[in-house]
Amino acid sequence: MGLKNAIIDLMPGPLVRIFAAPYTAGKGIASGVAKADDLHARLGIYSTVDLLAEEVFRREDVEATLQVYLRMIEALKDRPYASISLKPTSLGINESEAYCQANLRRIVEAAAAHRIHITLDMEERHFTDVTLRMFRAIREEFDNFGIVLQSRLFRTPGDIKALPAKRCKVRICIGIYNEPADVALQDKADMKDKLFEYMQMLLDQGHYPEIATHDEPLIRRCIEHLDKRGVPKDAYEFQMLLGVPRTQIQQEIVKRGQIIRLYVPFAEDWKYAVRYMKRRLAHSPSMAFMVMKNLFGS
Ligand SMILES: Cc1cc2nc3c(=O)[nH]c(=O)nc-3n(C[C@H](O)[C@H](O)[C@H](O)COP(=O)(O)OP(=O)(O)OC[C@H]3O[C@@H](n4cnc5c(N)ncnc54)[C@H](O)[C@@H]3O)c2cc1C
Repeated sequence: MGLKNAIIDLMPGPLVRIFAAPYTAGKGIASGVAKADDLHARLGIYSTVDLLAEEVFRREDVEATLQVYLRMIEALKDRPYASISLKPTSLGINESEAYCQANLRRIVEAAAAHRIHITLDMEERHFTDVTLRMFRAIREEFDNFGIVLQSRLFRTPGDIKALPAKRCKVRICIGIYNEPADVALQDKADMKDKLFEYMQMLLDQGHYPEIATHDEPLIRRCIEHLDKRGVPKDAYEFQMLLGVPRTQIQQEIVKRGQIIRLYVPFAEDWKYAVRYMKRRLAHSPSMAFMVMKNLFGS
């Protein structure tokens, strides 16, 4: 663990909660639903709602997480502007692939009945193979199931080629996990060039890229390229995290008649929110300054 991560790890929970406030909807399903409703009503912004529950190990916690997702589906129905994101480590992958896949399938099936899209988040590299296997199996049965690919990984072009032949919704992002040099790019500019390249690959293969980045020049590069290529505006979308201040470009995208979707996490238990926030801080320590600026209006 580096010095930066060690300091972040030692931060007290209440302090982390202050930082978490702008980046999470709050506590309970109702807070996630209310945030999705508000973003859409006020700003025309779509949401993908997520329960903060990474790294769940005990079966009773996995069952509890599964029940929260099933209740979330009920709570989000009749909202075409809301989808759901979830993580294999919160749904039983630490126990077995078969158990996790059965849990995921239950959620995707329940969501299909209400035409709610589910995105399976991508976690660190040890989970990539199993996550893709579970995705492919469930995607064969259900159309409302999407996946995430990380442009920093060298394997990603092969993973794009191995996607199901059916049109898949694929979030393409640089990836939040620091991965070693034998499997991943180390330079952010290279990761972003690859994001641009893989976004095109996904389109070429008939998929629907969800371009997840806050990098404005990269977003503009994508828009310019896609417009020049004459790609219909409903063939792709942009995604960002709740709380990252990008109001102007988000409104530009809305005005273009395109989807901009925010990742809207809520907590059932603050200890998970604290863990999530520590991960965000480790990724982007400059975020701490941005939050202070937001809080104190300077
Ligand atoms: C909707 C969505 C879903 C995602 N899902 C996954 C996933 O399943 N698996 C995965 O590995 N990664 C996921 N990510 C994270 C993603 O891979 C990147 O780590 C993250 O988006 C930062 O990369 P960037 O392209 O925005 O570029 P960066 O260069 O990292 O960011 C550009 C600028 O955006 C701002 N910014 C970026 N991130 C933050 C932040 N957290 N807080 C405050 N400001 C910030 C900063 O001003 C920064 O300078 C997701 C991201 C989004 C937006």
